[in-house]
Amino acid sequence: MNKKFELIADFIRTSFKKDTEFIALHEPIFEGNEIKYSNDAIKSTFVSSVGKYVDEFEEEIAKYTGATKAVACVNGTSALHLALLIGGVEKGDEVITQDLTFIATTNAIRYCNAEPIFIDVDRHSYGLSPIALNNWLEENVDIVIVNGEKQAINKKTGATVRACVPMHTFGHPCDMDSIMDICNKYGINVIEDAAESMGSFYKGKHTGTIGLIGVVSFNGNKIITTGGGGMLLFNDSELAAKAKHLSTQAKMPHAWEYKHDHIGYNYRMPNINAALGVAQLEELNNFVARKRKLSERYMDFFQSIEIEFVTEPVNSQSNYWLNAVLLKDKEERNSFLEFMNAKKIMTRPLWEPMHTLTMNKDAQCGDLTNSKYIAERLVNIPSSAISL
Ligand SMILES: *Cc1c(COP(=O)(O)O)cnc(C)c1O
Repeated sequence: MNKKFELIADFIRTSFKKDTEFIALHEPIFEGNEIKYSNDAIKSTFVSSVGKYVDEFEEEIAKYTGATKAVACVNGTSALHLALLIGGVEKGDEVITQDLTFIATTNAIRYCNAEPIFIDVDRHSYGLSPIALNNWLEENVDIVIVNGEKQAINKKTGATVRACVPMHTFGHPCDMDSIMDICNKYGINVIEDAAESMGSFYKGKHTGTIGLIGVVSFNGNKIITTGGGGMLLFNDSELAAKAKHLSTQAKMPHAWEYKHDHIGYNYRMPNINAALGVAQLEELNNFVARKRKLSERYMDFFQSIEIEFVTEPVNSQSNYWLNAVLLKDKEERNSFLEFMNAKKIMTRPLWEPMHTLTMNKDAQCGDLTNSKYIAERLVNIPSSAISL
């Protein structure tokens, strides 16, 4: 057993060219224009929520992803909150997401005073399972026509299932065609949590541009970072304008008057963060190429020692944000974590499944077989965009 772990530790140390130093799970890399643009933002004195880098970052992200419009936010979580509000989620509504996701997805649903419903992930994408989604909807929901529009009404609670939030786990795209078909059939809006998948494509489309709205994160551990930051992706400019309005305290445009027409939020990304973002985006393709090379190396290696390595699903091009392996069982996973972290090779288990958290103890769930299986066995291993 430990012999295999020794082999893995040696392989990681060789790949990262670090004999004894600590190896992080995911480190930011600043090798481009980050300092130059940040300095420029400071010199301009426009460091806060107005400035040329915010506009430029939005335009460049829209260009890269193929979105019609992008709206920058202070972080991915606030962007998710706005996406859900603009997706029509109201108090008492229900919102479907996957049981395996980072807590931010669920928190954003709660900020809308809506109830999350947890559905299983599939074993190929590690994202929302279309089969599990369809099963739950067939069993629990009636399609009712309200004002000429389809609404999914929960048979037990009477609430409307307003939105569905698939999340592209570790950068691997969900099976979006199937998810879109199912949600369209039920009149459910799709908000993609693409926080982890900047640079990932599904059938040639950037993740986050397939549903009604998509959300990206630029937190320090993501593939590109603005320190803290997020972005909303839209195909509809009117929805984008709404998002920008809500993110800037819902202040109506006027030369000097403070008029607000809605409860707004202070969610706008500061210019100094956007300056970092513009520089990081210039590096994105390079980071994706490096990460894909690292994951290929991992793939061959883990195949040779017969450990399951998580790979991108069919029809997709993943950014391989975080590499992951599946151990035999929870016991082996725990000894692997002990072993690697003791050797200063940072490894982490998966998030606790959403249905196990105390604030979610009364939440509705589908069958969660895959989620439980994966959560007990999966470990993330060092994944920084190193040059091999
Ligand atoms: C990182 C992340 C977020 C939130 O992003 P922040 O920018 O940290 O607020 C949301 N969802 C998922 C799945 C994430 O990994």
